[in-house]
Amino acid sequence: MKKILNSLFISYLLSVTVWGRAPALSSAPSKSVAKIGVYIFDQDKKWANIVRSQPELILDHMGKFGYEVYGPAGLEEWLKESNIPYTLVYHYLKEEQNKGTDNLGGYPSYAEWSEELRKLATDNPHILQLSSIGATEQGREILAVKISDNPQSDENEPEFKYIANMHGDEIVGRELMLRTIRDMVSAYNNHDPEISNLIDKTEIFIIPSMNPDGAELRRRANSNFVDLNRNFPDFTTGDNRDEILQRAKETAAVMRFQKSRNFALSANFHGGAEVVNYPWDTTPDLFPFDQMIKGISQEYAARVPGMYDSSEFPRGVTNGHAWYEVDGGMQDWSYFWHQDLQVTIELSNTKWPSFDSVSNFYNNNKVSIIEFIKKIHQGGGIKYTDGRDGEVKILSGNKDLGTYYLRHGEFYKVLPPGDYTFVINSRGVENRVAIKVPTSFEALNNPQLQSYIVLND
Ligand SMILES: [Zn+2]
Repeated sequence: MKKILNSLFISYLLSVTVWGRAPALSSAPSKSVAKIGVYIFDQDKKWANIVRSQPELILDHMGKFGYEVYGPAGLEEWLKESNIPYTLVYHYLKEEQNKGTDNLGGYPSYAEWSEELRKLATDNPHILQLSSIGATEQGREILAVKISDNPQSDENEPEFKYIANMHGDEIVGRELMLRTIRDMVSAYNNHDPEISNLIDKTEIFIIPSMNPDGAELRRRANSNFVDLNRNFPDFTTGDNRDEILQRAKETAAVMRFQKSRNFALSANFHGGAEVVNYPWDTTPDLFPFDQMIKGISQEYAARVPGMYDSSEFPRGVTNGHAWYEVDGGMQDWSYFWHQDLQVTIELSNTKWPSFDSVSNFYNNNKVSIIEFIKKIHQGGGIKYTDGRDGEVKILSGNKDLGTYYLRHGEFYKVLPPGDYTFVINSRGVENRVAIKVPTSFEALNNPQLQSYIVLND
């Protein structure tokens, strides 16, 4: 603790003597430590740059009145030295005191909800497949549900993903995902035409809790105090290779899972604000499909009462970096290395609201949750039956929209509706395929349209 305190203090002195110039970037592991959490009331943001200049500190949820700051042991001492007033919201040494008989405030425990999910999967093998993507630091399985017709087989259907609760104390997302799974199953079994059609044509994966250890402990970080949403590779830092290395087990599990599939659209659910946050988070550079992702985000926000007309975020959305910079987040990693378009959906201003209020959040979000899944059908793909790897360049007329991986013989991309040419390079041969991207409504309602053009070797 002393050592970290010293290094924090020394880098603070350095940042002052060089007039606030940011010190050198730190390596990823120290950046992702969240042992202490504070709230800093700072309406004028007069301390924000001092906080930002500390490579060990995590700034979160920049708001009208202030922001959260997380960091290693020694954070409080540093704030005192720096004359920055704060309110303590989490302290690892005080965690024990919070553990009463009802630490979870009425929310189901991991044992309870995972058992319920297992039962649901066992009872509905025609559309559900439950698996574990890996174990947490404390040995809990990180459960993933696949919802699709013929869930045991990998069909030519676009792959969609929801991940919730990577911050253990942001609990609403987990509950919304469990309710979404339950309601989709019952809608399918009751032959609801809209939901049945969506399930039949899509491979939907839902991970209700990426950080079940953190949820049991009711803390942001995992059991080793790693902030999982600062623990992914970051293309703008020295930690810029898609390698598992020393990362937390939960991060590593998601990285392996992502590599095994071909996700094209996903969202990850958080709490502490009410807004849809779209990439990039780590750089002010414009995201390649900025207008499209902004539009999809606004569609999510538009159907949530109170989100779209937010006084803080115009139309209920924000570019990630414009709000506050996140390095090592899952959202940017997902697109940069896996061309999986991901947004971060902040569901509730209160991270752990009363359990009774969860049904309200669900009612407010459930239409958007389904409509967002449908968006994956606004895309086009190719599939080689021999499972080959290669590259795909996308052309819109003469305009080059980038080059992407062809993995396991499969490539699918969400794009603005229109006509494209996919230029495929694989095994030394170039192949050009015309792709028409429909709206998701057309794709889901016209049985003639296929998501994938199947190519033989
Ligand atoms: Zn979060």
